[in-house]
Amino acid sequence: MDNADKSKNTFAVIGAGMSGVLAGIKLKEAGYDFQIFEKADRVGGTWRENTYPGIACDVPSHIYSYSFELNPDWSEFTSPGSEVQEYFEGVSQRYGIDQNIRFNEAVTRCTWLENEWEIETEKGHVERFTWVIAATGILHHPKYPDIEGLETFEGPMFHTARWDHDVEIKDKKMGLIGTGSSGVQITAAVAPEVETLNVFQRTAQWIVPNERVVYTDEEKEAFRTDADLLQNLHVEMSNAFNDGFATSVIDGDSELIDGIQARCLEALDTVQDPDLKEKLRPTYRAACKRLVVSHNFYDAVQRPNVNIITESIERIEKNGVRVGGELHELDVLVLATGFHVDAFVRPMNITGRNGTVLDEVWEDWPSAYLSIAVPEFPNFFMLNGPNSPVGNFSLIQTAEMQFDYVLKIVDHVNGGDLDIAVISEEAYKRFDAERYEAAKGTIWATGCNSWYLDNNGVPFAWPFPFSRFRAEMEAPKIEDYERVTS
Ligand code: NAP
Repeated sequence: MDNADKSKNTFAVIGAGMSGVLAGIKLKEAGYDFQIFEKADRVGGTWRENTYPGIACDVPSHIYSYSFELNPDWSEFTSPGSEVQEYFEGVSQRYGIDQNIRFNEAVTRCTWLENEWEIETEKGHVERFTWVIAATGILHHPKYPDIEGLETFEGPMFHTARWDHDVEIKDKKMGLIGTGSSGVQITAAVAPEVETLNVFQRTAQWIVPNERVVYTDEEKEAFRTDADLLQNLHVEMSNAFNDGFATSVIDGDSELIDGIQARCLEALDTVQDPDLKEKLRPTYRAACKRLVVSHNFYDAVQRPNVNIITESIERIEKNGVRVGGELHELDVLVLATGFHVDAFVRPMNITGRNGTVLDEVWEDWPSAYLSIAVPEFPNFFMLNGPNSPVGNFSLIQTAEMQFDYVLKIVDHVNGGDLDIAVISEEAYKRFDAERYEAAKGTIWATGCNSWYLDNNGVPFAWPFPFSRFRAEMEAPKIEDYERVTS
């Protein structure tokens, strides 16, 4: 395709997190015009928003990197969140993507008009684009617990994704509700600092022990000077992950998960107090909820100033949290209570062909053909959208494969194979029915409550092997798209 043809395509990318920056890099490389809209003042998405003490990426850093921008300088096997944020900022600057980002400008509306999208932003700007790429993330809208009296607490109280760094926590009485990945990392980080830490645990978590590995200067130098070494490490780790863990989670009877559970139990056995150990023992299968990785959570909870409270919270009062009639007095209350994972591109107002409103299509629960496209929403694609492999593969590798798919579809439209790219209702329903059936056999459906489940209790993440995802992304089935004649 020559440049004249390319100039007929303009792309609006919504969000400048990991996926949005990726889209920008790929669009720039392909020579397309694009504009990225970002509601905040910086790139980074979840890594910009989550700055709580102890935040780290529990996926190995050499996997959690763009394949084309490996980083020899990761400080640890699983590096701190601030380093991940710096990585995305650095990549975005190096590739000159920042110039194409409109910061502090959230998109409020996308409306399909015959052959293009009209985009409106919170600043009232209205522009038209031929394509929309929604790179809006998933763990993004904080979920506040529905607990009586929450608003009556008089001390500082914040969600993990809205950490208030002006609040002094040293020698304070802290309460923490929630023991998912965020709550566990915070517990381990703040326990030595605070006077007391009351952790309100509704459900015990499986904790996979890991060893903290800090890369030496020699190792980093070797990664810097030997590109093959870094590349091979990335490929080996990705393959091991995709052939191992990613394969095991879609099998509710996986032996690999049995092995992981045994490792978790060994770690749990390091807890000395038998009562505490029982409080921390999960009653469901490991990896049913997202596994939590930690090398120091069990050490932290055995400190004399840490208290694990498993009885239900009765209510929150101005001075603390009441449980079993007892008031646990607190100076600071942290809500590690997760995210609304069904929001995706919402609350944006998105109207597709024939006046179809996305919010209505997704009234029960969001889903998308191959995690990417929805019928009646032409030339509109999502990265890490509904039904993406959020619990299995690296989100970065997933987004890279998804975006390559999108560019192939763009080529089909520009090459005249399709008038516009709109997935057929039949293909969408066929995929969704197959996905729904497969989801019931995954580890996430083995009897626990988690953010992987939809309103009907069925897991919504990609339930097929990595090989299928890669095959689907590498060779788009053009016959699954409508042949419209404009
Ligand atoms: P989460 O896994 O959804 O955990 C929320 C926690 O809050 C759970 O322990 C939940 O208990 C508890 N909770 C929610 N509402 C409650 C209520 N009303 N009363 C008492 N407890 C309540 O959230 P998250 O820890 O923020 O993690 C979300 C995801 O973010 C992770 O699964 C992971 O994918 C990602 N993450 C990744 C990293 C990383 O290192 N890469 C770090 C942090 C987060 P129940 O278990 O009983 O529901």
